[in-house]
Amino acid sequence: MATTSEQSAQSEDKLPGIRHIIAVGSGKGGVGKSTVSVNLALALQQLGAKVGIVDADILGPSIPGMLGIPTGEPPELTTENKLIPAERYDLKVVSMGMLTPDDKPAVLRGPMVGKYLKMFIEGVEWGKLDYLILDLPPGTGDTQLTLAQSMPLSGVVIVTTPQTVSLKIARRGLRMFEKVQVKILGIIENMRTFTCPHCGETTDIFRNGGGERMSQELGVPLLGALPIDPNVVACGDEGNPIVADQPKSVSAKMYVTIAQALVEQMQSAVTVLKPFNWNWNSNEGAPAWVESAAKPTGSQMIPIGFMRRDPRTLSILWEDGHRDDLDLRELRLACHCAICIEEMTGRKLLDPKTVKADISPKQIHSVGNYAILFDWNDGHNSGIYSFKDLRALGARAAASGSEDV
Ligand code: ADP
Repeated sequence: MATTSEQSAQSEDKLPGIRHIIAVGSGKGGVGKSTVSVNLALALQQLGAKVGIVDADILGPSIPGMLGIPTGEPPELTTENKLIPAERYDLKVVSMGMLTPDDKPAVLRGPMVGKYLKMFIEGVEWGKLDYLILDLPPGTGDTQLTLAQSMPLSGVVIVTTPQTVSLKIARRGLRMFEKVQVKILGIIENMRTFTCPHCGETTDIFRNGGGERMSQELGVPLLGALPIDPNVVACGDEGNPIVADQPKSVSAKMYVTIAQALVEQMQSAVTVLKPFNWNWNSNEGAPAWVESAAKPTGSQMIPIGFMRRDPRTLSILWEDGHRDDLDLRELRLACHCAICIEEMTGRKLLDPKTVKADISPKQIHSVGNYAILFDWNDGHNSGIYSFKDLRALGARAAASGSEDV
């Protein structure tokens, strides 16, 4: 019989034996998504993890080539009819390319891809894995959405390049994943700088800092930025990814740094706060306030505590250690819902005069791991406040408070 700790470890697994499934996506093709998937998988392995990789990019399955795995051979099956993954550098690999005839990849539309992929992942003899990396097809359409929804993902990593257009598309991708409440673990900016192999000078081919900007704008961590590295291409073409082939190179080291940042994100993704339904007046069901989870590198958008500081003030403690004390009436006035703000024009529909000075919530509920919902005592209960909005509200309140002084 399984012990309690085994049972709880199993129940934490995303699939039996698989701890985390991480999708790697990009707004468009050619940004290095598959290259990043493979090298990130190898870097995670260097940190001691057991890693598998699924090439879900049916339109252009490139992972087998990058790892030097021969294609065109039907995969072997176990006696239970489970597919045995290919193995290279201790990485377990399956590719959608194995399932679809080469000449008809586009036939599989979004829902079908999702169905196949689910079957594919669940019908594979993975053994025990810490991470299963899912190399998504490029783009932010239905296919990606279906994939994101059909798998119990721990989160998604977005690969982008510094050109504005690519950032714009990546931003759209981020929003899409946010909408279906898949946690965005971070952004990886690929091909940021070029280091001359002769003189060693580093040049920003494109505009620099796009990843940082996007990270700040969307409240998503930048896991790291990779240089343009001709060796990455050569290694990829020969089936020897740079992390395995040249582990001492700048690129390989950067991959390990990125893998470490990702692991940290995964740990904080095990959200400190459990879902809650909090009665404001009695304080029953109050969420935790976990000061020990604060860290200087923590996210500005992940709350690690909510507290009823006094009957009129909601305090929020953020992972970066910052605390916001929010006035209840200000919170009610800031409601973004369609009843309070005209959706098309952004015009305020809520008349502040109608909001009483003693307005307070009856209940506050957590919504997924991205927002809270107030059930106000004026009967209004449709306003969802994202963590991002709450943090911005705190900043605005602090700014207007200092103006008042
Ligand atoms: P995607 O999966 O986004 O379509 P790929 O991983 O197939 O992109 O990469 C596209 C091309 O860019 C490949 O030839 C790859 O070797 C190259 N590439 C990826 N990352 C880098 C990099 N950091 N420096 C130089 N070339 C790169």
